[in-house]
Amino acid sequence: MVTEVSHSKKSSESEEYEDMDLTSKVYKLVVEHGKDGILQSLIWKDLSLTSRDGSRLAIRLEKRGMVKRERILESGRWTYKLTPLRLPVQIDSIEQAPCVTCKVEEKCSPLGVISPYTCNLLSGWVLEEYTRKSSS
Ligand code: SF4
Repeated sequence: MVTEVSHSKKSSESEEYEDMDLTSKVYKLVVEHGKDGILQSLIWKDLSLTSRDGSRLAIRLEKRGMVKRERILESGRWTYKLTPLRLPVQIDSIEQAPCVTCKVEEKCSPLGVISPYTCNLLSGWVLEEYTRKSSS
């Protein structure tokens, strides 16, 4: 019984890690396409994601205020284009972004009690990146 519990805890931890890793990869691809944005279907293809899993990750990034999801008509079909709302100083710094591993991201929203506007972790990261960029 104990083994089952620790096993299920371990697999949920590894699923959580995998999820965070994929969220980070989706965000990285969106940022790489800059202000022009990228069709979400191209990201799903690139990362071999199902549209269900990919949409879940995109919605998560949208809720965090990191990307904009815009419904557009492309070749006669409705889809979404993703564009970054926050552009990091350097793309390689995305992996360090606190939002990617945040434990309270479900509760974080621009108008919520927990918000990117008042988040010390986020402002600390931005400041650190800015300092790093300025001194290099
Ligand atoms: S609480 Fe801070 S670190 Fe967490 S998702 Fe919101 S802005 Fe990001």
